[in-house]
Amino acid sequence: MSIHFDDLLSVAHEKNQGIDGKRLHGVFEFASEKHLGQVRQTGEPYISHSLFVAKTIADWGLGQSSIEAALLHDTPDMAGVLITEIQDKFGQEVADLVEAANKVGQVKLRGSRNEDFLENLRKMFVAMAKDIRVVLIRLADRLHNVSTLEGIALSKQKRIALETLEVYAPLAERLGMGKLKGELEDLSFPFIYPEEYQWVMEVAKPHFKYSEENIGDVIQKIRQQLAKNNIKARVEGRPKRKYSLYKKLLRPEIDRDISLIHDLMAVRVITPDTNSCYTILGIIHQYWKPAPNIGISDFIAQPKPNGYQSIHTKVFDNRGNIVEIQIRSEAMHEQAEYGAAAHFAYAQAKMAGVEDEKLEKGIGFKVTEKMSWVNQLAGWKQQVADTAESVKQYKLDALSEHIYVFSPKGDVFDLPAGSTPVDFAFTVHSSLGYFLNTAKVNGRVVPLSTPLHSGDLVEIIKSKQKRKPSRSWLQFVKTTKARSAVRKVSDKN
Ligand code: MN
Repeated sequence: MSIHFDDLLSVAHEKNQGIDGKRLHGVFEFASEKHLGQVRQTGEPYISHSLFVAKTIADWGLGQSSIEAALLHDTPDMAGVLITEIQDKFGQEVADLVEAANKVGQVKLRGSRNEDFLENLRKMFVAMAKDIRVVLIRLADRLHNVSTLEGIALSKQKRIALETLEVYAPLAERLGMGKLKGELEDLSFPFIYPEEYQWVMEVAKPHFKYSEENIGDVIQKIRQQLAKNNIKARVEGRPKRKYSLYKKLLRPEIDRDISLIHDLMAVRVITPDTNSCYTILGIIHQYWKPAPNIGISDFIAQPKPNGYQSIHTKVFDNRGNIVEIQIRSEAMHEQAEYGAAAHFAYAQAKMAGVEDEKLEKGIGFKVTEKMSWVNQLAGWKQQVADTAESVKQYKLDALSEHIYVFSPKGDVFDLPAGSTPVDFAFTVHSSLGYFLNTAKVNGRVVPLSTPLHSGDLVEIIKSKQKRKPSRSWLQFVKTTKARSAVRKVSDKN
């Protein structure tokens, strides 16, 4: 079903107080006109894709500029619209967002696929985005593209699905957007592992059916116990995501035995505040005993690296089944489902002068130093609560000291900002540095002192004979590796 402008407008107004509907309509008309006559592989008019992306962005609580940029995000690529035209018509901020979204859109999965490579690719993505809103526009775009894979060529289907699973879903996770991560994975899964997908669906079917009946009973009992103790909380059931179930089935201790999986259906208890979480845990354990050894995890006291907070307990229910119960506060729930996007909602609400209780209840994050960029993605709320709101806050600078470039094979290398082809050559391999003749960046020969940028493809043209590095290179190299190699050889003479 295609989306109309009115759908977008009502979501935008519902989630955000400061929307200028008339201006938004102007942007919509401009985008519609530019995409006129273009259709998606599904047969829908192209603008329905732009509307979907914009509606998702609005639904995540982002504001006017982000929604406008989402409407316009494909006009440069698909309709030849110049960034300067967007700037003239709709201003600098929207133009910058569209430009960055287009740049980041060019990052593609290629080359080797080990964990280091993938993590560098994700960092490259974030470094090129420079602004968290750009990352979110790209994620919303990917969500729509991966939900409409049916009509496109098989090879492209697979590439998009794989990229979604390996780059986009982990980014959503690092942003703390658990719901989006699950959706992206489940949408990609059948295209990447069609047979395994069939198998999971078949093997899980009867278990899901039983779980569903059983869980209704469990939810009922928890509600009774909470009412007896005068505790207010929402109790709901949620089926386990298919891809996450598949990954669990592959664990050695499970060895594809679905009867060993206890969270096919989990129960969630959502409370108004943190203290009630522990009270509820006590009430549940009085009624049902925790399962030995696999018992309780307290992610409230010790949040996961992406900021996720919740108490998980596995108990024996009245029928002797093991059931997982997750207990968390409303603020933690919102954080787990929407992550960084939820922070925007808070920021916007605060800007609009809305008194939001949740704003005051800060959520603590514990991340390792190595994950400082993840910290910046996940720790959004902290920043919003600490400082005055401005566009600056959307800027991602945890990675500003680094650039990420491709080798011709498609490997991604992490270099200090300002690095040159000489740094690149010595980073790839010292022998490449000593045979360095000329360098091409994005297919063009450049001076060896040219600073590289994230996303550049760097190719080193080797000389036949080993060459002595020039001492003048010391004036521009940024890496220790290149510096000491140049020194070592040129000092000998
Ligand atoms: Mn798009």
